[in-house]
Amino acid sequence: PPVELPIHEAVLGRAADFGDQPALIDGTDGTTLTYEQVDRFHRRLAAALADAGIRKGDVLALHSPNTIAFPTAFYAATRAGASVTTVHPLATPEEFAKQLADSGARWIITVSPLLESARRAAELAGGIREIFVCDNAPGHRSLIDMLASAAPEPQIDFDPAEDIAALPYSSGTTGIPKGVMLTHRQIATNLAQLEPPVPAGPGDRILAVLPFFHIYGLTALMNAPLRKGATVVVLPRFDLETFLAAIENHRITGLYVAPPIVLGLAKHPAVARYDLSSLKYVISAAAPLDATLAAACAERLGLPPIGQAYGMTELSPGTHVVPLDALHHAPPGTVGKLIAGTEMRIVSLDDPGKDLAPGDPGEILIRGPQVMKGYLGRPDATADMIDTDGWLHTGDIGHVDEDGWLFVVDRVKELIKYKGFQVAPAELEALLLTHPGIADAAVIGAYNDDGNEIPHAFVVRQPTAADLGENEIMLYVAERVVPYKRVRRITFINTVPRAASGKILRRQLREHT
Ligand code: ATP
Ligand code: MG
Repeated sequence: PPVELPIHEAVLGRAADFGDQPALIDGTDGTTLTYEQVDRFHRRLAAALADAGIRKGDVLALHSPNTIAFPTAFYAATRAGASVTTVHPLATPEEFAKQLADSGARWIITVSPLLESARRAAELAGGIREIFVCDNAPGHRSLIDMLASAAPEPQIDFDPAEDIAALPYSSGTTGIPKGVMLTHRQIATNLAQLEPPVPAGPGDRILAVLPFFHIYGLTALMNAPLRKGATVVVLPRFDLETFLAAIENHRITGLYVAPPIVLGLAKHPAVARYDLSSLKYVISAAAPLDATLAAACAERLGLPPIGQAYGMTELSPGTHVVPLDALHHAPPGTVGKLIAGTEMRIVSLDDPGKDLAPGDPGEILIRGPQVMKGYLGRPDATADMIDTDGWLHTGDIGHVDEDGWLFVVDRVKELIKYKGFQVAPAELEALLLTHPGIADAAVIGAYNDDGNEIPHAFVVRQPTAADLGENEIMLYVAERVVPYKRVRRITFINTVPRAASGKILRRQLREHT
């Protein structure tokens, strides 16, 4: 059944039960916030924000790297009635201004190191009433000082089914990022749906290195663990050695990561220098993860097989996950099983009305309580995505096996059409990564001189394999795939460009061709 609670109630409703247990720990300096503090602080801050003029339905932009203050700021804003649009901390002022203008934001919460960028964005966008800072900066109200507010707690009459709690922007992997309207009910219900397969509780220590501003981090690293009394250790950015040290120092039990981190854990020599024995599981989501790589990572860490989850911003965000108690028997490469209360269809790419049998790949359609309310201000884009029967067309290609395990092949839009045959970049990327001399790889469709689309690989060589050549790589692939899937062109690069959520930025690679 749908959860009819505002998000701050759905997450912090039991905070009092968890009292002095650590809710959030700063992974860099050890500063800790207990559950009692998060609960008290977010209420005080909601009062202060309401006193500053925030009203129900206002949009507030939260512009911060991961810090222990981020969740408090988020829940305070929603308790004051605002819809929170989370902003990439490294967005340029122009990008930030676009999001402010598109979302109609009137308020900003930022941190002092990003203040200049926030000011510039506010100037460009116009309409911003006030910029608050989490820490301290002259000329701006600080959330720390606002905790002392004596203002009364706002009494907002929420309609969880209609009111927008969060306005995250999709990653912009396939086009411009779109503002996704997620109601309190959608987010709260999805948390409840995801809880039984991947339970958390007091004693669990989750490492939050993926960004809170992206819906994956917001859900898996903030809302889900804080709802259940687990401890979240927060790191502001990804750096492999800092990440490994944090696992060791804080005895981290669970990791939610994206494929590039799995790659680092599987291949980087530094991994051997840290004690990672506290880890019980690793879940990867947000982009395709190759089964061979996943197995290498799990074996190296002495862990059960790595689980995956699948979702998208428009799905609040989850639909599939490998339950923690099924890690050992889930088939390799699966993104998981459909969570409760959600329906899925796999339909033909040529004939969207036709449902496919197990094993046949087609487009994944989803219907359920977590399907977004719509894209903000884009009714046409919303109608393209959600049909009149309520099915959301994910744009992803997948197939299920007889037991209901879902496998994601790639995005419809990324498929390369080589002489009429479809080649999934993710499959070639996975294969390239099995080559010992290859540190990272990305594949896109490029055009040859005849105007035909061909698979073009961008390869990062291992430092020890500087003499690895194009021919050797092409041959390696050719020996392992049917001829139409062969890599036809190779460019060596230093790093694969990726979004904060771990997705390959193929648009940037296309500019290289
Ligand atoms: P945009 O919609 O703006 O182009 P985006 O789709 O990358 O950006 P997100 O909502 O962050 O924005 O990402 C959702 C997408 O991530 C899914 O549609 C899917 O392609 C991909 N994805 C998520 N989880 C997995 C997974 N486990 N395996 C493969 N792909 C995944
Ligand atoms: Mg998308």
